[in-house]
Parts: sequence; structure tokens; C-alpha cells
Amino acid sequence: MADSILGIDVGGTGIKGAPVNIETGELTGERFRVHTPQPATPAAVTASIAEVARNFKWQGSIGMGFPAVIKQGVAQTAANIDASWIGADAQHLVQKLTGCPTTVINDADAAGLAEMKFGAGKGNLGEVIMVTLGTGIGTAIFTGGRLVPNAELGHLTIRGKDAETRSSVAARDSHKWSYEKWGEHLTEFFSELERLFWPDLIIVGGGGSKEWSDLKPHIKTHTPMIPAEMLNLAGIIGAALAAEGVGSKQTVVGSKDKAASHS
Ligand code: BGC
Repeated sequence: MADSILGIDVGGTGIKGAPVNIETGELTGERFRVHTPQPATPAAVTASIAEVARNFKWQGSIGMGFPAVIKQGVAQTAANIDASWIGADAQHLVQKLTGCPTTVINDADAAGLAEMKFGAGKGNLGEVIMVTLGTGIGTAIFTGGRLVPNAELGHLTIRGKDAETRSSVAARDSHKWSYEKWGEHLTEFFSELERLFWPDLIIVGGGGSKEWSDLKPHIKTHTPMIPAEMLNLAGIIGAALAAEGVGSKQTVVGSKDKAASHS
């Protein structure tokens, strides 16, 4: 267990955690999940995170992926979580309740780190955009294998609307769209990413990766697109990688964390 870090993925409906061997990307214990409390206030969510840590009798480092922009452990936005998170120091709150050193990063950045190290983006040094399709749309940009943190491309405006509102899994579910219809909306979103970023590869994660074979024929892009390989474990594994320093090494710009010791 020497190399294990507890990875925790905070989502809109569930909070999932497992110890992760950060050398191999394997879970060293069974995944544990609790429901995200509603309202998902900082106090309630932190208590649930502590429950996950207690389940593993955890005393080591924790890495946590959180569905918001995160700067030095502090949540800056709250598109799909309780608005009271804005300005809350997630890192400090979790650290205080668990007694474990904690690193917090954006959830899509976490998933991207895992896919770039162990999954669909392994070894790719070009410009890669990871897109997670779920309740929200999360994005992570990598160039030369390095993360450009907190890209919020799911909030690009398409036809006057937030891309996430138009094209997420939640939007598809509420409108009961066919793959063809959902594909049309996603094609507009991915085309905008192409127009603005010219990526070499797009990795599609979240619900999009599970349904990729049905969805793919209806998405028309120039950029190669492949499904994520680690399914719903990417968020947990990537969060653990961030705590190990992979995230901080890659988020060196504007960061006063451990970056220097890893660069
Ligand atoms: C948030 C992102 C997050 C994504 C996926 C979006 O609404 O703004 O920070 O990565 O949802 O959870």
C-alpha cells in the first residue's frame, strides 16, 4: 500500500472513492460510493467525503476531483453543485475533517490525467482535449502531456446557449433525443472546439464513452475522436494522480503548490 493514494470523485449524484496504486493505476481496494447529499452544501458534502475516507480507515494522502473550477483548493464556480461552494476552501475542509493531506482538482482535469497516463491518451504529446459528457460537460486540455487546468469549454456559447445545457447527457435525457439528434448537437459543440483549438485528438469520456458505438456515426468532425478507456474509474484514479504531484507538476502556472519540487 506504500504507493496508494485515496482517490475521491465528487459528482452530482454520487461520491466515489478507492485507494489507487499511482504507479500502475490499479485500485488497491474495492470502490466505495455514497449518495451526494442534497442540498449538496460544503458541510454536507465534506461529511460524506469523510465517510468515504473512514470506510477505508484512511490515514494517508487524499486526491479529490470536484465539479468546479479549483484554484489552490478553493472552488471558484458552481454550475452543477450548490452555489454555496463558491469561495469554499474544499481542500481545507476535507483536510480538517479527515486529518489527511488533501489535494483538490477539477473533476474533468482528474479524468484527463488518468486517461493521459494509463488510458486513451497514453503517450500522446500532441494537443489533446478530454471531454466528459455527464450531468455537465467537463473538459481538460493537454499539450505535450501537460495539463492546462480548469478549461471550462462546456460553457462555450453555441447558438446563444451554454453548450452544456444544449448537449450534456442530462440534456439528452430530458429531451429523450435519439443518437442522431444528440449527435447533431454534439457535432456543433465539437466543431467549435476544433475551430478554436485545433486539437490533434479528442477523447470522449463519461456517458459518451459508454455509448460511443451508437453515438460515433452521428458525430461529424475532422479531428480523430476516441472513447475514454477507464470509464467511471478515471475520475478516482486521476484524483489520486493529482495528489501524487502529477497534477501539480502539470498545473505549474499560477500555482503555489508542490509544483517546484516536481519540475
Ligand atoms: C463544470 C465543470 C465540470 C463539469 C463536469 C461543469 O458544469 O463547470 O467544472 O468539470 O461540469 O462535472
